[in-house]
Amino acid sequence: MKRIGHYVDGQQVDGGDRVGPVYNPATGEQTGEVALASASDLETAVSAAQKAQPGWRATPLSKRQDIMFKLRQIVTDRKEELARIITAEHGKVVSDAAGEVSRGLENVDWCTNLMQQLKGDYSENVANGVDVHSVRQPLGVVACITPFNFPVMIPLWMATTAIACGNAVILKPSERDPSAALWLAEAFAEAGLPAGVLNVVNGDADTVNAILDHKAISAVSFVGSTPIAEKIYTRAAANGKRVQALGGAKNHMVVMPDADLDSAADAAVSAAYGSAGERCMAVSVAVAVGEAGDALVEKIAERMPKLKVGDGTDPESEMGPLITQAARDRVAGYVEGASGEGAKVVVDGTEQKFDNDGFFIGVSLVDDVKPGMKVYDDEIFGPVLSVVRVDSYDEAVDLINANQYANGVAVFTRDGKTARQFEFDIEVGMVGVNVPIPVPIGTFSFGGWKRSLFGDTHMYGAEGFNFYTRRKVVTTRWPEPSESQISLGFPTH
Ligand code: NAD
Repeated sequence: MKRIGHYVDGQQVDGGDRVGPVYNPATGEQTGEVALASASDLETAVSAAQKAQPGWRATPLSKRQDIMFKLRQIVTDRKEELARIITAEHGKVVSDAAGEVSRGLENVDWCTNLMQQLKGDYSENVANGVDVHSVRQPLGVVACITPFNFPVMIPLWMATTAIACGNAVILKPSERDPSAALWLAEAFAEAGLPAGVLNVVNGDADTVNAILDHKAISAVSFVGSTPIAEKIYTRAAANGKRVQALGGAKNHMVVMPDADLDSAADAAVSAAYGSAGERCMAVSVAVAVGEAGDALVEKIAERMPKLKVGDGTDPESEMGPLITQAARDRVAGYVEGASGEGAKVVVDGTEQKFDNDGFFIGVSLVDDVKPGMKVYDDEIFGPVLSVVRVDSYDEAVDLINANQYANGVAVFTRDGKTARQFEFDIEVGMVGVNVPIPVPIGTFSFGGWKRSLFGDTHMYGAEGFNFYTRRKVVTTRWPEPSESQISLGFPTH
């Protein structure tokens, strides 16, 4: 069985006796055991980061930029290899894993632009002979805590930006699929990143708690489920850290009666079942307005039997298994309970049979879903699409705005006026117009509203650079010594 340790001070280290299982979700077999760092393992990594950070901070921006370009090349050249590492522990199909790597690379592209992003401001002669300028300086040692569903893209959102800004990083990946983060640490080293600037500390809740309480860690970036995001935000902020904690989601896709229903059905199927619904931007609720309902449900249902669910390494597979057996059973429970709640199960994926013991489940479609049903209220995080029927645009907006989550949303319509009004009315952080998964390109920033984000800074893009730097404002004067005098008044211009 593969032993998965940590990466500290430029080296792979084995870790202690506390371990967790890592599975191949397509076979159900345990393929590895991952070390779960103790507080003293974390201490070693934080010490390495503290030792490396001053030198990294002093490293010229041109050298940092060069490392970003090299990293970009290494990851691009070896994308397939990295995608297969993702598939082996996460289960998503290799082409989808390669897509994840590409979306992560967008942020590396953005970080190659670090000179522009780290520019300060300058105001000349704000008072007689007085100039003011601002600089952006790193925070020191920062922690990045990531979820299982994007084991490459989310570490690349966080760690790359933090490093570009001159910080040293403790990256704590998900214990379900930890190998990709170790691969990334080696790739950074190959690109020229000095030892100790990026440390990967594998672990679980105990490790995270030690991070949240560690005095030398200045900031925490987190992505994961809402209850944990809220806890991370509260505990880290109480310990004086800067925090951004992105949580769960329930993403709605509104289908107006004037939408092209074939395109809308294609989009709903792709966005609900891609990556087995284990995407924070997956569509989990289709909101069918008025007469769109019957035709939309019919068109979605007729597309579903053609989807190929299987081992992610099989090029024929379009959707892989779920991450664990427990996740599979939890998702099945929502479908099994839906009719008892008054919903109508149109396609029941829990009944699909598979040839092996992987954590597979088929795709499900549940109609006549309403708020108050568990299938609507909870984030299911699996291949289950609910349909809520509403009579009007206003009812659709009210439904979505009443939801506790506000990560992504989409509207499908052929009418520009409706789309524009939707953009104005909807209380959600990322909006798609005829785009079902509106993950912003790397030059913008990513983040939801309400209980999908605790804190106020979104990830990557310009906001990422804001999060990982602090501004210093310098007021400068070069007076003639002969003009010097004592004045006890508050300085004004
Ligand atoms: P999770 O919350 O279980 O775990 C995320 C991280 O927190 C992991 O590193 C894990 O080790 C750690 N953790 C787990 N339990 C903890 C605890 N009790 N105390 C401290 N740390 C703990 O999430 P997951 O299952 O890995 O990922 C899926 C979730 O992440 C979904 O809810 C999904 O919507 C969300 N997600 C959100 C976004 C976003 O951008 N908003 C992106 C991806 C995933």
